[in-house]
Amino acid sequence: MSSAGFNSQNGTGQAYANGPSQNPVAMQQLPGVSYGMTHQPTYNPMQAKAPAPLGPGLYPSGPYQPVPPVSSYQQGPPPSSYPAAPGQQLLTRPPMGVAPSHTPPQSASPSPGPRLPPAQATPPPPAVSSSNYYANPQQQQQQQQQPMPPAWQYNTSPPPMGPPSSMSASPRGPVANHVNPATSVRAPPPSSAPYSAAPPAPVSLSATQPPGPGMPPTSLHGYIQPGTAPPPMNPMPPHTYQPSRAPYGPPPTGPPPTGPPPTMKPTPPPTGPPMANATPPPPKADAGPPQPGPPGRHLGHYPSLPPGYQQTPAPHNATSPMHPAMQAATQPYTQAPQPYQQPPGGPGPAQLSPSLAAMSLQSSTPEALRVVNLLQERNLLPPSPVPAPTPCLPQDLQKINCHPEVFRSTLTSIPQTQSLLNKAKMPLGLLLHPFKDLSQLPVVTSSTIVRCRSCRTYINPFVSFLDQRRWKCNLCYRVNDVPEEFMYNPVSRSYGEPHKRPEVQNATIEFIAPSEYMLRPPQPAVYLFVLDVSHNAVETGYLNVFCQSLLDNINALPGDSRTKVGFITFDSTIHFYNLQEGLSQPQMLIVSDIEDIFLPTPDSLLVNLNECKELVQDLLKSLPTLFEKTMETQSALGSALQAAFKLLSPTGGRMSVFQTQLPNLGVGALQSREDPNQRASAKDIQHLSPATDFYKKLALDCSGQQVAVDLFLLSAQYCDLASLGCISRFSAGSVYYFPSYHHQHNPAQVERFQKELKRYLTRKIGFEAVMRIRCTKGLSIHTFHGNFFVRSTDLLSLPNVNPDAGFAVQMSIEENLDDMQVVSFQAALLYTSSKGERRIRVHTLCLPVVNSLSDIFAGADVQAITGLLACMAVDRSVTASLSDARDAMTNAAIDSLMSYRQSVLTIQQPGLLAPACLRLFPLFILALLKQKAFRTGTSTRLDDRVFAMLQLKYQPLAYSMLMIHPALYRIDDLTDEGALNINDRTIPQPRLLQLSVEKLSREAAFLMDAGMVMYLWIGRNCNPNFLSQVLGVPNYATVPENMYLLPELDTAESQRTRAFIGWLKEQRPFSPSLHVIRDESQLKPSFMQNMIEDRTESALSYYEFLLHLQQQISK
Ligand SMILES: [Zn+2]
Repeated sequence: MSSAGFNSQNGTGQAYANGPSQNPVAMQQLPGVSYGMTHQPTYNPMQAKAPAPLGPGLYPSGPYQPVPPVSSYQQGPPPSSYPAAPGQQLLTRPPMGVAPSHTPPQSASPSPGPRLPPAQATPPPPAVSSSNYYANPQQQQQQQQQPMPPAWQYNTSPPPMGPPSSMSASPRGPVANHVNPATSVRAPPPSSAPYSAAPPAPVSLSATQPPGPGMPPTSLHGYIQPGTAPPPMNPMPPHTYQPSRAPYGPPPTGPPPTGPPPTMKPTPPPTGPPMANATPPPPKADAGPPQPGPPGRHLGHYPSLPPGYQQTPAPHNATSPMHPAMQAATQPYTQAPQPYQQPPGGPGPAQLSPSLAAMSLQSSTPEALRVVNLLQERNLLPPSPVPAPTPCLPQDLQKINCHPEVFRSTLTSIPQTQSLLNKAKMPLGLLLHPFKDLSQLPVVTSSTIVRCRSCRTYINPFVSFLDQRRWKCNLCYRVNDVPEEFMYNPVSRSYGEPHKRPEVQNATIEFIAPSEYMLRPPQPAVYLFVLDVSHNAVETGYLNVFCQSLLDNINALPGDSRTKVGFITFDSTIHFYNLQEGLSQPQMLIVSDIEDIFLPTPDSLLVNLNECKELVQDLLKSLPTLFEKTMETQSALGSALQAAFKLLSPTGGRMSVFQTQLPNLGVGALQSREDPNQRASAKDIQHLSPATDFYKKLALDCSGQQVAVDLFLLSAQYCDLASLGCISRFSAGSVYYFPSYHHQHNPAQVERFQKELKRYLTRKIGFEAVMRIRCTKGLSIHTFHGNFFVRSTDLLSLPNVNPDAGFAVQMSIEENLDDMQVVSFQAALLYTSSKGERRIRVHTLCLPVVNSLSDIFAGADVQAITGLLACMAVDRSVTASLSDARDAMTNAAIDSLMSYRQSVLTIQQPGLLAPACLRLFPLFILALLKQKAFRTGTSTRLDDRVFAMLQLKYQPLAYSMLMIHPALYRIDDLTDEGALNINDRTIPQPRLLQLSVEKLSREAAFLMDAGMVMYLWIGRNCNPNFLSQVLGVPNYATVPENMYLLPELDTAESQRTRAFIGWLKEQRPFSPSLHVIRDESQLKPSFMQNMIEDRTESALSYYEFLLHLQQQISK
């Protein structure tokens, strides 16, 4: 039987004779492939769970064997080196190869700094390749049944809890922090006291800091060094008080405490310097001794309250009003602070069930399930971008649920069983943007962070309180004690209302971690810049922009008084810069033995920024001219990276690498693998996987030492991004790509480079981070997407985390969720802020469990599904082939629509039918097939393709969706009708147009927003008013060829247009380049290639694609 997708027939002139719509991916269980899309059957990760032999690929796998340090670490004869003398040497490059060095090479020991013994310091636990990790089912089940591994857990001894019978007797279904409505003594209404500041006090690092300064990678989150006594965590049995606390006497029954104010503050909008307002933890006594409560309070019972009512801040309001899609998505949150209302009896567990049932009934009729015949209904796009669907939860839960921009699921209703999921033929997964800039983020300082003793889940809005002293975990259902400190509510300054604590009122919250979350003092912010200064690099002119940008922003680099910086430049040799305080000017030290790299003066290459700022500024001013006349064409990037790794190893930090050509000298040298003639004609795309494992291995070494590598690639030539990209991928860095960068020939790229550099240098950063994702018992995580290293089944190692990084996770249902009404997912990101605080950001998402296919379909999130499929298809392209990935995507559309037709539709009708919530699915799949990453038959540079793949894997969903399906607007007739009004600015809101040439008009002008790039297309007969009032040109013929900025004209049209474009740009952290194009423009093909609905020589039109789908489904 044919299992080929339509692509294999495409372009041959044949009819699209797909075989029966078997998913070829499901049919071909390829050895060595362990990616989600290879599951057999489709979307059943469980059955594919046999630990697959891991094939080669972009993310080659196989257990990562700790590699010995790169050769240059080994003892050897002193390499020839030429330390430049102080003084004039900086400006005159000394002759190379002149011996000897005045500094001995580094010894074999990795670093003298506070590191672990090598056995521990070498990264990885076995067999986890970051993107193809497959959990061993048995292992996972064990993990779910057993307490968490020691690395995660503080206290492995069973905590003193009630008898098991009481646990099993308690209601099973997790209920938000509703309380069993045993007795309803109404609590006094909370005061609306803001989170006021408590007198800050420094964190005592030494308190529980173990003697060894190292930081074992395996205990990053637990921060327990073997042999160290685990720090006490919620050690009290019920009604026993923390020993360190002054005895409070019997459980309080008096009025609210009069102690110092609470210890919680919201953080300011993200515009401020990151972490500038971090509040150090207050003294322990801060919570104030609780006073006796009001008379008559019954201990063990308290009023049942719905969660989340009095919490004031809307957690995710952006600083500026958002795009309609985002506004819609925000809706649950922007519903202003709710006045406290106590529903009679409160929705306890008993009430939840009918409530959910009612929701479920509603959901079977709503818009989401309206039947749409795609072949007839052509105009499917909403007027503004699609909002995220709202999970079908009781309003009180949904109101406090995690924001979809931060945390969302492909299915907002979770199937009860894996077999039900299999029937739906849609992928189940989570998409996260965990470190997103937030305008409102509650930050809690507390000496006790309340977590489940069994699974270490952080207390969250979706736990249930059995009574005032016990809460039940919503992930593992363990009953935990409420610590004494938690009885005090810093928000209302009241006592005895643990369910009103900010932790239980906010699905996104940040903790300032107490000392037990640290094994060593948090690392300082350390920034190392590694700069290509070869002839090619100098030609591009990037060095000027880089140096100027860093000079401009040097005081805005996130950090504190400990911040360190350093610089390495390289061509065929490696150049270090001694910036030690006291020197009259920077001193360049050249190491020409690139085979055995060493650090000439290890102590003065990374310097304190505050103390040495003048030297750093001197260097930045002189660097661009220093290499002006160089004729050196070779590039020893690999050696430069090794040197940089050595330099950063003792502290960890961020390495920013700027590269302009294919590295061609020494370790990590690469050769061109691209044949430009094959770009369009090749049946399948080769060389998507790395040519060498050098960059991956080095990245893993970096990850083990808390170093992330960000790669800026500025090149007109092929650079083998498939190989180079590994250096960032596995070290949790980012890749920035500026194809054809040239300071004169490509001003739009220069503009974008400048803006992105500014964002890069000044945005928030988290160091030595780990992210753990937990989910309710019965669900399991099996594949991650993004840039990271997977440390264990659910723990990602992120040497750096940045606010622009996204992640995706594939999930499966291991045990039936029969008796659950909701399930929860929790992502916890532990990181060191640039101010040296250990912080934990926790996001918790709650979703309903459903047992009918129609409910599953009704909750489908078409954008999240598309985003996750894109990640899966990237993996598939690399491990199998691009055509396999294309087939799999097509089949994802076929399978889900077929399942809908067969299992949900009660009345069969002709046509290609989809539920309204999936009406855009075929369009988005077609868009993916035509996306640079996956397209065929169109000339696509290999690096462009690989970069698009990298972006799809690590961009947050909102940005990926713009890449996949750009937004098109007509903008020559903008009006104020329906406009947004923001801070006295009027932002016109033109409607979204279909991506088809038929929507264009020669009399008009159109803006296409494709995420990283915007095109302003001018029709040949464009309204002259627009040309003169907006572009400032008299007629079409005089529109400049290289126009990338709109002039600031004092006309209403100009203001409207700039307001709209500016507002679009504000929606994302990076700066897209704008190209004004005409029919004659070189960039017109790029613009036209985004006309997804149109037919091209090599690809179907949207309508043809629908016919193809229908043909397959009706077979
Ligand atoms: Zn738990």
